[in-house]
Amino acid sequence: MIATLDNLVVNDNGLRLFCNSCVRCVDLEVNALVERYGAAISLPEIGRRGRCKACGAKGGSVAAANAIVGENGTALHKQMAYQ
Ligand SMILES: [Zn+2]
Repeated sequence: MIATLDNLVVNDNGLRLFCNSCVRCVDLEVNALVERYGAAISLPEIGRRGRCKACGAKGGSVAAANAIVGENGTALHKQMAYQ
């Protein structure tokens, strides 16, 4: 079974995208991805659709990540480089 966005929502996980061409990685906004693609999209597909803002390469690897919690207790998600 391939993990989908819905799995991240259920487990309150974030999603991190790693550029295949440079060392950059970004934490993605899961809720924004759900609105854009729907919860059923697979995580590898999201990786394929991403484009790195730093080097312009298309496609990357994704990994589920535990939510990063800021000092005020709310989860931090960097605005990502999705197009
Ligand atoms: Zn890159």
